[in-house]
Amino acid sequence: MNHLEPEKPRISLLVAAPRGFCAGVDRAIKIVELAIEKYGAPVYVRHEIVHNRYVVDALKALGAIFVEELDEVPDGVPVVFSAHGVPKAVPHKAEERGLEYLDATCPLVSKVHRQAERQVEAGHHIIFVGHQNHPEVIGTFGQVDEGCMTLVETLEDVAALNPANPEKLSFLTQTTLSVDDTKAIIEALQDRFPSIVGPKGEDICYATSNRQDAVKNIAKSCDLLLVIGAPNSSNSLRLVEVAEREGTNAYLIQRADEIDLDWMKNVTTLGLTAGASAPEILVREVVNRLSEYFVVDEQQISTTDEHMVFKLPRGLEAA
Ligand code: SF4
Repeated sequence: MNHLEPEKPRISLLVAAPRGFCAGVDRAIKIVELAIEKYGAPVYVRHEIVHNRYVVDALKALGAIFVEELDEVPDGVPVVFSAHGVPKAVPHKAEERGLEYLDATCPLVSKVHRQAERQVEAGHHIIFVGHQNHPEVIGTFGQVDEGCMTLVETLEDVAALNPANPEKLSFLTQTTLSVDDTKAIIEALQDRFPSIVGPKGEDICYATSNRQDAVKNIAKSCDLLLVIGAPNSSNSLRLVEVAEREGTNAYLIQRADEIDLDWMKNVTTLGLTAGASAPEILVREVVNRLSEYFVVDEQQISTTDEHMVFKLPRGLEAA
């Protein structure tokens, strides 16, 4: 080191594990890559395959074209549906148009879709716990006829429910919610409607709850926590909330260059995690940026190991 250069301050960096890509995101990205290999570019993708700009840009560079609606897909080209799932009308419309489609819906979201169908078949009205306008919620509502499902986001929404038949109710949840908030909402539902049926616990997926647990585990030891994720990524936003509830200031960033060095004033221990749609390369990018200004003592703090892998759709495994 140049002896005129001031010594860098030290920072302790606690990197949460598990973090980053889940099995559903990994599978969705592979589906787009394999579709491009199999059919050649361009392959159309309806909606951002996963909520991460870096991932979307990398797939665009390979030949993926992202659109919001099926109408924007020209005839004769394959289309992939995103990991968040789509209303039933979307594959129906694709079939009508003779479009080849690949469904990258996460199997854990598809499981909720099947539960919704079964509950409606059993004559139940479904109370769905989720965030309005999130693509997963739109996709799940689109599995059943209009009027069969009611969205609740808060305890106030539960208090305002007025179902036609309180004895014939079910609940389901979005997969990427806050574990703690959802528990409170389900308890409120069960208090108001004792005969309501639902999945054991909720439908929050293993990746969402593992990432929240990992943040809870380190948050109290950190002066600040950074979450790498997109502003429209539900599970990433929940990680910021989890840290804040533990009393730790937290920021959501998409890339390392968004770190404001003023945030680091008085920070001796920094926490770092990434939402389920953020690749590990973005975690390394943040560590590298920090290393420009600090001597970083990096430590990975793991709460559990993840080994989940989802099968690819038929026809793509051998591509
Ligand atoms: Fe599937 Fe959960 Fe990942 Fe969503 S966050 S894609 S539900 S594993």
